[in-house]
Amino acid sequence: MVGSESRGALVDEPPMTRVSVPEADRLIGVKQPVLAHGFVVLVDYMGNDAAIVQAARVSYGRGTKTVRDDRGLVRYLMRHRHTTPFEMVEYKFLVRLPIFVARQWVRHRASSLNEYSARYSVVPDEYEVPLPEEVRHQSTRNRQGRGDALPAEVVERFRSDLDSLSKEAYDAYTRALDAGVARETARLLLPVAFYTQWYWKINLHNLLHFLSLRLDPHAQEEIRLYAAEVAKLARVVCPVAFEAFEEFQVEGVNLGRRERRALRALLEGKSVPEACALAGLPLTREDGKPMTTGEGVEFLEKLERIRGVE
Ligand SMILES: Cc1cc2nc3c(=O)[nH]c(=O)nc-3n(C[C@H](O)[C@H](O)[C@H](O)COP(=O)(O)OP(=O)(O)OC[C@H]3O[C@@H](n4cnc5c(N)ncnc54)[C@H](O)[C@@H]3O)c2cc1C
Repeated sequence: MVGSESRGALVDEPPMTRVSVPEADRLIGVKQPVLAHGFVVLVDYMGNDAAIVQAARVSYGRGTKTVRDDRGLVRYLMRHRHTTPFEMVEYKFLVRLPIFVARQWVRHRASSLNEYSARYSVVPDEYEVPLPEEVRHQSTRNRQGRGDALPAEVVERFRSDLDSLSKEAYDAYTRALDAGVARETARLLLPVAFYTQWYWKINLHNLLHFLSLRLDPHAQEEIRLYAAEVAKLARVVCPVAFEAFEEFQVEGVNLGRRERRALRALLEGKSVPEACALAGLPLTREDGKPMTTGEGVEFLEKLERIRGVE
């Protein structure tokens, strides 16, 4: 027998039974629709809020039980970025999504995925045409995003061009397959509006990182819709962890050094322009026009968020 085993276990181990969350079990295999042809399905999960607590108590010892209750411990871990206990929870999803969303999603390396192979199988005739309200002007504030509404005729022209080009592309794809072109080559004809599908497995720590980036208003609307469905499903497994995530990460406001200086000046009674000038956060350009991007503008956005808290 190895030394430590002969003297007994290092920690007082709880019963080793597989946890299940009945509300989550009822959702397994149920398609949650997203966009025109997409969905998110919870395929499986391992662990729950109790698994986070169980892992944390290995580090903190039994004594913590009398100091903090389970919810308090999870919130403490989230606030202090003690992240490894959150890695004890795993999720597996099946996701059907347009290729342009998949290209953003796949950047999240700290996860595992297996994608539908368009080398082995024929790509279905399904593509995404955004709803009219989603076709908008290029944003002037966020260089990557969408802004104001466009004239209805511009919107309809875009949607009908996308529809007819996608149909044409799929016809050419079918013709190529019928003529004997290999599937792996024929797929080059299909644009990024077409759909793909994959299994995606990720632990809760990395899932929360994914959500913090992809639920954010700076992320593209389409991936935000998927992130919202993933969050809804994942929350059922770990409601306490999600409550803490929302409180300290989603709703939290992180202030840099100059932002703290500006906030202190505001608390001392200075106006917003005065406080920003004192702190070195520019609000106007050299030509006197108001800035639309940059650190000063982002500080104003943070102030708006703070003012908006209920
Ligand atoms: C709004 C928005 C706009 C974006 N725009 C662009 C863009 O224009 N162009 C573009 O290319 N990408 C863009 N991205 C993708 C972005 O740069 C990240 O690649 C993506 O969000 C994944 O984040 P991540 O690397 O933190 O996550 P993961 O890949 O899941 O990694 C999780 C964490 O693991 C660590 N990690 C993983 N791999 C490494 C590594 N090799 N070295 C060091 N640390 C590592 C890091 O701490 C990382 O935060 C954008 C993302 C968002 C949310």
